[in-house]
Amino acid sequence: MRKKIVAGNWKMNLDYQQGLSLFSEIVNMVKDEVIGSQQVVICSPFIHLHSIAQLAKGTTQVAIGAQNIYFEDAGAYTGEVSAVQVKSTGADYVILGHSERRAYFGEDDQMLRKKADAALKHGLSPIFCIGETQEERESNNYFEVIRTQLEQGIFHLSGDVFDRVVLAYEPVWAIGTGLTASPEQAQEVHAFIRSELVSRYGQDIAGRTTLLYGGSCNPKNAPQLFAQPDIDGGLIGGASLKSRDFTDIVKVFN
Ligand code: PGA
Repeated sequence: MRKKIVAGNWKMNLDYQQGLSLFSEIVNMVKDEVIGSQQVVICSPFIHLHSIAQLAKGTTQVAIGAQNIYFEDAGAYTGEVSAVQVKSTGADYVILGHSERRAYFGEDDQMLRKKADAALKHGLSPIFCIGETQEERESNNYFEVIRTQLEQGIFHLSGDVFDRVVLAYEPVWAIGTGLTASPEQAQEVHAFIRSELVSRYGQDIAGRTTLLYGGSCNPKNAPQLFAQPDIDGGLIGGASLKSRDFTDIVKVFN
């Protein structure tokens, strides 16, 4: 059985104290709800990582992640943070290839490949994001876009390493817009991703890989989305900033 994951992406929100308060609330609310092979991951800004990792001690259900890393381990890269540094805070995950990083910070497949290598080398599991823009969907080009993102960004990994990767399908047109993909639209792409995984890594690894959906996911639409056979949870932006909404999404798997 593959792991179900509900991951929160706080993006560039919450000051230090606000982050700690929200995290404490979430831990208290989800600690009795998360069962079996389910995992909650909170991907915070760098400033919160160490403190929330401390707060998460004693719960196995809530893990911590960053939202970015640089691919070098150390050196003269003013303003950047490495996988080694993130891992030393107690984090276990890192979001890579989010469409906001691709669009606003020019991250391309070549850079993402290096970031994925750095993450895995230092014990961080990438939550690797892929997804098409509105234009690419309207021109019916989305399978090709997603195939290229997979092939160029992450399929260079060998199977034993890829086993630690989580994929997130986030249609760009659905992120922060309130326009969620319908369960059928999301399942169509997730099934496509799964079939690409079968071709590249074989049935076993493809069957074990957790595929998250992200893009305006909320407590109302999560039950139908998560009921789809190839959707194993969500990457939650806006709704992860409200403890009640986020916890309600976590509970969908109960
Ligand atoms: P959203 O963001 O839930 O606010 O649409 C999801 C994401 O960007 O990860």
